[in-house]
Amino acid sequence: MRDSRYDILFEPIKIGPKTAKNRFFQVPHCNGMGHPMPSSVAAMREMKAEGGWAVISTEECEIHPSSDVAPYPEARLWDDHDIPALAKMCDAVHKYDALAAVELVHNGPACANLYSREVPLAPSHQPVNWYAPYQAKEMDKEDIKLFRKWHKDAALRAKKAGFDIIYVYAGHDLSLPMHFIQKRRNHRLDEYGGSLENRIRLLKEVIVDTKEAIGDSCAVAVRFAVDELLGNNGIVSNVEGREIIEMLAEFPDLWDVNISNWSNDSATSRFSSESFQEEYISFVKKITTKPVVGVGRFTSPDTMVSQLKRGILDMIGAARPSIADPFLPKKIEQGRLEDIRECIGCNICVSGDMTSTPIRCTQNPTIGEEWRRGWHPEIISDKKSDKEILIIGAGPAGLECARALGQRGYRVHLAEAKKELGGRLIYECRLPGLAEWIRVREYRMQQINKMPNVSIYYDSHLSYQDVIEFAVPHVIIATGSFWRNDGVGRKHGFPINGFNTINIYTPDDIMNEKDIFGPVAIFDDDHYYMGGVLAEKLAKQGKEVCIITPATSVSAWTIHTLEHDRIQKRLLELGVKLYTASDIISVDKNHIEIGCIYTGKKQKLNCKSLVSVTSRLPNNKLYNELKLEMNNKYKEYTLTAIGDCYAPATIAAAVYSGHKTAREFDNDILSNVGFYRELPSYSTKS
Ligand code: ADP
Ligand code: SF4
Repeated sequence: MRDSRYDILFEPIKIGPKTAKNRFFQVPHCNGMGHPMPSSVAAMREMKAEGGWAVISTEECEIHPSSDVAPYPEARLWDDHDIPALAKMCDAVHKYDALAAVELVHNGPACANLYSREVPLAPSHQPVNWYAPYQAKEMDKEDIKLFRKWHKDAALRAKKAGFDIIYVYAGHDLSLPMHFIQKRRNHRLDEYGGSLENRIRLLKEVIVDTKEAIGDSCAVAVRFAVDELLGNNGIVSNVEGREIIEMLAEFPDLWDVNISNWSNDSATSRFSSESFQEEYISFVKKITTKPVVGVGRFTSPDTMVSQLKRGILDMIGAARPSIADPFLPKKIEQGRLEDIRECIGCNICVSGDMTSTPIRCTQNPTIGEEWRRGWHPEIISDKKSDKEILIIGAGPAGLECARALGQRGYRVHLAEAKKELGGRLIYECRLPGLAEWIRVREYRMQQINKMPNVSIYYDSHLSYQDVIEFAVPHVIIATGSFWRNDGVGRKHGFPINGFNTINIYTPDDIMNEKDIFGPVAIFDDDHYYMGGVLAEKLAKQGKEVCIITPATSVSAWTIHTLEHDRIQKRLLELGVKLYTASDIISVDKNHIEIGCIYTGKKQKLNCKSLVSVTSRLPNNKLYNELKLEMNNKYKEYTLTAIGDCYAPATIAAAVYSGHKTAREFDNDILSNVGFYRELPSYSTKS
């Protein structure tokens, strides 16, 4: 039963000629599947419709071959051949009375057209994004006319596919109407350049074109970034951002407003908190009578209600919260707040798109797997037998495995050595900015606590003998991993000489608050968040800290979670010295000699302590002992290692591993490769 305080979230709202059944709006989000995997995308979006979202949007949808963001797999409406793939999504979404929205885009100079090999287009001559060695051509009047036609044609195709809401996109520094607005990109001297009125001409024209083309039956939304967080070099919300909304206030049927670029819009929890965009977008509703949508990693229904009641938003926009929990609206509607799987703001989901691979999520192991594995985020097959299962270790892998096996109805025993559940989460959530990560544990504990068939044994470090005495013959080992302290990692295949002469620490030591004396050097050959976040922690304690890394920047992989630049900024502002493209040559008690990885040029650093952030080893002693004995004596036993104990990786990978093991227990594995694939269709030349 829903709490009446949340009724407002379930009031219908008119968007042009359409009506959304409630206030939950899944705004456009990339998913690493896009046009090459239409069935996967449709099934993923359908899940959100089933979960109660009133509007479900596509990711960016390219309108023409001159807007080709390859290698990133986004949606496409280049010509009529692309209609059936998107119609599939519309049909799936309509089954649950949700509205389907499409974010039409021409990426202008933000794409290099690597697949189509068309020449990129821009308001003025300029290089394209991503350091690609191409330039975009300045659009002449003919090009502008063509662009307007492509957009209009794409809108008509979108209507044919079944979309209810058609976006005109001017956000994220990624779309031509936005590029025309930006002074730094638009140096034109004609009626499309110069004054703000001229620079918004194209956006205005495209809104009008789209309305004329499909406005009788579809709604037209505008997604606009009111602030680029670039100061005078970009749009500023209380200057041009406001003026633009004022000039176009009543043109679209809905405003979807945010901040730009994507790393600002999708800032991680390490750098932002829930409703972080409010200060930039709150003015919009005061200017327009049209519904306003905005995002801010909303997971709390109270915050959502507050956004509506205080007149900040009309609809609660969400990408990541809808990925972590496609059933978020349903759970609020049914008064099941404790079942909400809250987004932790880690941006592992973004890494799918950034690496052109299907979306994944730390909290929701089923996202992206709806079609290829048939996984539903809320439903799992019933148990097939009365087998009992012993899971050892209650980190992300063990907790998720216990939760999912418990949900299937199995009798599960979960043994944890510590007095507290959570494994690595307990420590990592105490690192600067990572507090929200504990939600991975909280969600699973809340679920397990409701399951009488799952028993938890705290403070229970199990040995080989204990496991045998426990006499539960299906054993899943989720005992995690530990950081090694010898420097072995990507750069060094063998232990680094001298690591045993200096005060050497691992991330585990620092997270366990072991005393450490400065100056501290961190050797980061891991390249994800750990090296950078430890430097932040130690620098905030007032220690002199440097990072040595063979990569050309610190925490290099965080480019895929959109955190990279913010991490460099934070560390530099904290006074952390960054020795990039550098390797450790030798170490003694008080010094580290480092060398440039290109030239070999050496320098000596004074330091008292060295933190080795290179790689981890599985904590698999128990697994190996059991495996040996089981092969010999206990043949009726089954033994499985999962998560970091099998192969150390991300928290998302551990959760996924636990979930997959639970799904596959007692079940046949789908097809030869374990999942279905979207095979290429051998198209004819038509
Ligand atoms: P993962 O990410 O794979 O879930 P973690 O390192 O986060 O791995 O969690 C592993 C958990 O297993 C830790 O909480 C640890 O205390 C627990 N553990 C390790 N060895 C044993 C054992 N022999 N008996 C019970 N629990 C164990
Ligand atoms: Fe949220 Fe992380 Fe899941 Fe993305 S991967 S939806 S940020 S929990």
